Amino acid sequence: MNESRNIYDLTHDQLVDFLSELGEPKFRAQQVWNWLYTKYVTDFAEMRNLPKSLIEKLEANAVIHSATIASEEYSSDGQTKKVLFKLPDGQYIETVLMRYEKRRTLCISTQAGCAMGCVFCATGQMGFFRNLTVSEIVAQVLYFAHELALTEEHVTNIVMMGMGEPLHNYNNTLAAVDRLTDETGFNLGARKITISTVGLVPAIRRYADEQRQTPLAISLHAATDAERDKLIPINSRWPIADLMDACHYYIEKTGRRLTFEWALISGENDTIEQARALGNLLHGMLCHVNLIPLNPTAGFSGGPSSKERVDVFQAELSHYGVSSTVRVRRGIDIQAGCGQLRDRVVGNP
Ligand code: SAH
Ligand code: SF4
Repeated sequence: MNESRNIYDLTHDQLVDFLSELGEPKFRAQQVWNWLYTKYVTDFAEMRNLPKSLIEKLEANAVIHSATIASEEYSSDGQTKKVLFKLPDGQYIETVLMRYEKRRTLCISTQAGCAMGCVFCATGQMGFFRNLTVSEIVAQVLYFAHELALTEEHVTNIVMMGMGEPLHNYNNTLAAVDRLTDETGFNLGARKITISTVGLVPAIRRYADEQRQTPLAISLHAATDAERDKLIPINSRWPIADLMDACHYYIEKTGRRLTFEWALISGENDTIEQARALGNLLHGMLCHVNLIPLNPTAGFSGGPSSKERVDVFQAELSHYGVSSTVRVRRGIDIQAGCGQLRDRVVGNP
């Protein structure tokens, strides 16, 4: 073996095979697995119940964390922390920890950059570099799990709302979900992980067919094609009617409630007409809307809606029986949203 394996890339079975290639019995795999996913060790040398010879073999043939930290920042209230990781090939990704009451929510990335090009999004503005591997997705979580463990805290929720479109990297994203929900390892409840998608219709249908427990959020942001085309280029490929068909299919197949994300952009998608169109679209549907005043980005001239506009928009939705929550943007002072830290540290390519 002349190439180091990223150990988080391996399923439990693959870890057994890998250790057997190194001449080790099966029970060693369970020991290594426990160190990785229940103790979050970052160094093979910390795996204290392994013989020194095995630790040396692991060090020679595998790595745990292959990313380095390019920068870290805290919000002014100290409750939000954002880490920019540099990957071995020079790509950057970001992960955000949000502390809120008893929750410790991680916002993780699934791609370096994003191919979807949503005009208001800092990641969309930088373009697509590549998919993240399973280990690169999982490592973001275990990095913070390790850090939280030092203060006897743990990751309670994960949202796939960092850089990238999770369903455009379907296999690796879902393999990472499987890893993180594995009961013999990290054991996070599947319902604690939210996958957010811009609306890749075939992938939503596939996801529905797989009957997964992990909740789905749809980034809608506009309720007419004329408006959504301006904000989200892939709307021309899968217009709202197709997207809503897929959403209804998901609800029918799974019986699960869908979340719709709506970034309120002043004078753009915060009008009463959009609220009514949205009300008509979602009326009677098993769903909830998250209203998030836009986080301004360098490449987009739009700004957040005023509180009055947000209130009017929300009140109009409730006339249609559509429930919604206005989300506060946490960590806005450290640009803890959507590719913005990478922008500032690395600059746009
Ligand atoms: N690609 C996926 C997940 C990553 S983006 C998706 O689009 O859903 C996570 C969420 O942040 C999405 O709802 C996205 O629309 C939203 N978002 C992106 N840029 C934003 C901004 N500048 N202000 C507010 N929300 C934004
Ligand atoms: Fe990609 Fe989501 Fe940003 Fe759109 S909003 S560019 S899909 S990360």
